[in-house]
Amino acid sequence: MFIRLLRGKDPDAVFRPNAGQVFLALFIVIGIGLFGYFSIASQSAQREVREDLYAQETDASALSFTQRDAFNLAFAMTEWGYGLRTTREVQVARALLEQRLRVVTSGGELTYDVAPLAFQVALRELDRTILGLAEIPAEDRLTFITEADPILATFLTENRLLSQVFQARSRAVIEDAVRDRNRAEAQLVTTFGAVAFTLLVLVSWLAFDINRGYRRAKVTIDNQRAELAETIDHLNRTQQVDALASRMVQQVNDGDDIGRILSEIGPAFSESLPGVSIDIELTGPQRGNPTVVVSPDSPVGLEELNACVIRIHSIVNAALTREANEHRMGFERSHDPLTGLPNRSVLTDEIQRAIDACASHGGVAAICLIDIDRFRDFNNSLGNAGGDAILIAVARQLQSALNGSEVAARLSGDEYAVVARFDSHQEALIRAQQLFESLHFTTVAAAADAEISVSMGIAIGQADEYEAIELQRSAAMAIYLAQESDRSGFIVFSESEHAKLSDRISDELAVRNALRNAEFDLYYQPIMKLSNGQTSGAEALLRWNRPGVGMMSPDTFLDTARRAGILTELGEEVIDKALAFWSREMVKIFDISQNGLPYISINVDPVQLDDPLFAQFVIGAARRHSVPLPAIVLEVTEYVLSQSPTAVEQLESLRRLGVRIALDDFGTGYSALGQAQNLPLDILKIDRSFIPVDGLGGRDLRLVADIQGIAATLDLVTTVEGVESEAVAATLRDLGIHYAQGFHYSKPLPEAEFVKWVQQCAVSTQPVIHSLSNLAEPAVLS
Ligand code: C2E
Ligand code: CA
Ligand code: CA
Repeated sequence: MFIRLLRGKDPDAVFRPNAGQVFLALFIVIGIGLFGYFSIASQSAQREVREDLYAQETDASALSFTQRDAFNLAFAMTEWGYGLRTTREVQVARALLEQRLRVVTSGGELTYDVAPLAFQVALRELDRTILGLAEIPAEDRLTFITEADPILATFLTENRLLSQVFQARSRAVIEDAVRDRNRAEAQLVTTFGAVAFTLLVLVSWLAFDINRGYRRAKVTIDNQRAELAETIDHLNRTQQVDALASRMVQQVNDGDDIGRILSEIGPAFSESLPGVSIDIELTGPQRGNPTVVVSPDSPVGLEELNACVIRIHSIVNAALTREANEHRMGFERSHDPLTGLPNRSVLTDEIQRAIDACASHGGVAAICLIDIDRFRDFNNSLGNAGGDAILIAVARQLQSALNGSEVAARLSGDEYAVVARFDSHQEALIRAQQLFESLHFTTVAAAADAEISVSMGIAIGQADEYEAIELQRSAAMAIYLAQESDRSGFIVFSESEHAKLSDRISDELAVRNALRNAEFDLYYQPIMKLSNGQTSGAEALLRWNRPGVGMMSPDTFLDTARRAGILTELGEEVIDKALAFWSREMVKIFDISQNGLPYISINVDPVQLDDPLFAQFVIGAARRHSVPLPAIVLEVTEYVLSQSPTAVEQLESLRRLGVRIALDDFGTGYSALGQAQNLPLDILKIDRSFIPVDGLGGRDLRLVADIQGIAATLDLVTTVEGVESEAVAATLRDLGIHYAQGFHYSKPLPEAEFVKWVQQCAVSTQPVIHSLSNLAEPAVLS
């Protein structure tokens, strides 16, 4: 502790002695030592004085005895002169004196030696006198003494002076001792004074230092105490701010109103932070930004303030993020993610808004439904990304064409809508027309130019005529009609159209029901081999035995079935039924040994070939009914082969397995004859529109001959449809056409009748043909 104090390691120590104080302390220690020493010295000096006084007293009394005995000696000699004393008595007196003179004085010397020389001389004179006493006769004694009287007198005088000498000596000794004592005392007092003074100085100095140290320590402690108080305040505030922040974040998470939370942040935080005023921007681009004003006497430090601002930011961020999320989610709920347009859920509201606007401001509400033409083809040929690009391009085009009050939406797939209020029916129509035209444009999708056109169905109504949903339905009917290939693609809803459409919709419903109720059936029309007049196969032709109507030709219901979306299913039923018929009947009734396997020719709609599983279905059905694939002919149209790569691929793969492909209605389509070369084909079916009823001649004949020529070079088999007379059949045979079918041979027949027909034919025609061949062969031979 002491070392620590001395070293003064602790800068905060209340007291830290310095070198001067240490020096003074050492000085005091030495002083105390000296004081002790001097006090002992002083005591001994004192004692010495006392001893000297005693000694001088003794010496004085010894002296007085010496003087008395000297006097007694002189007196004895005088009395001896008068004969009153014997010589002996004088000698005794001298011996007594001698005894006294042998006494050692306090100075250690003999009294005799201390006595002055004059005394000693006087004594020696006297001694010489005494020595002569014995020879003196009694009568001369007086004379002798009288003569010796000066010696006695001198001796007595010297004896008297002896006390003076002793007094002087004793005074000197005592004075000496006293001086010694006084010096010792003076030293003692001086030392004491010095020590006391030094002690006083040291104590004052220390007291001053300690006081100063204490004051300093007190200041430090006060500061620390103040700091501690501040820290506690700070902690309390921090806690309060933390609690406040987490409460507000909780409010954000609980879905409280964001505006209210933002408006509460400023006051709440200002209240928690004395001398600080915080304002949160509630609107504008700086929304949520805090402005902090700190008064100069605020105890809130910069760090604390920063932490606080960070907390405010985190609350604001949480709040604004939630708001943005809600906004985004609201946007996502109501908008199409691909094009960013409002979605169907917005449409009804928008129509209602337009109708409401009509109600208050007059005018009409209009809705245009828009559908991209051939979008399915774009999607197939350009891929989904290309399709998406087209959808986006149309959305952009649409939006750029809109006026302020018009609202566009994407409803689904390639369907869009525009809703608005117009001052008049006329204005609505003009705007619809403008939009329609602006949506015929070229865009680049999947690195290819795509010519976009749309169909548009428009419904226009006054506020009191329609409800939103009705108007929407009317527009839907209009676009349904607009999408028909023979229309301009721009249809304004009208009541008459409505009636037509209602019929159509009920037809579609009926077709769908027909499929479910198995009202469809297959008829079979024989296909004849012209070279030998034998039945080689049959074409399966669909019939609908519509309840209450009777048997219907496919031409009357195929479009309805296509629109009703049942063609794929219906087509599969046809394939299944036809192949089942082949294996159940045809393979039995045909003379395989004569004509090889009969074939069944099945019409395939383009829609069926869009189904990538089509080929697989055909193969599966063939396997199911044990029909060899070369016994199957699929009839397709030029349109399919020129437009659908999927269809061509599927047909090619079937062809590789032995299925034959016939190009139906050849000559009616738009493709050039040469194109047939690049297609996966086996048979050309020349359309019956080239074949007049009673006889083939002129231009038709040349055309059929040309087709037959090309078919021959392409190695294709030809079939002619619609042969209604023997004359036609004969001409075709002469042209080298391979097969023929038509009413001349037979109308399409129900299964049982067909079976009967083939059997009868085999009986009736065989001999004919035989005879023909019989006739022909000798003719050839001859
Ligand atoms: P298509 O493929 O050209 O069928 C031949 C049509 O000509 C049949 O009409 C047939 O009855 C008719 N016909 C046959 N011989 C003669 C004749 O000598 N003179 C006349 N004037 N007509 C004759 P149908 O059965 O009414 O079929 C009409 C069209 O319906 C067919 O034309 C075919 O394109 C389509 N079709 C028929 N069945 C199906 C089927 O199962 N699926 C698909 N997708 N289409 C079918
Ligand atoms: Ca056909
Ligand atoms: Ca045909």
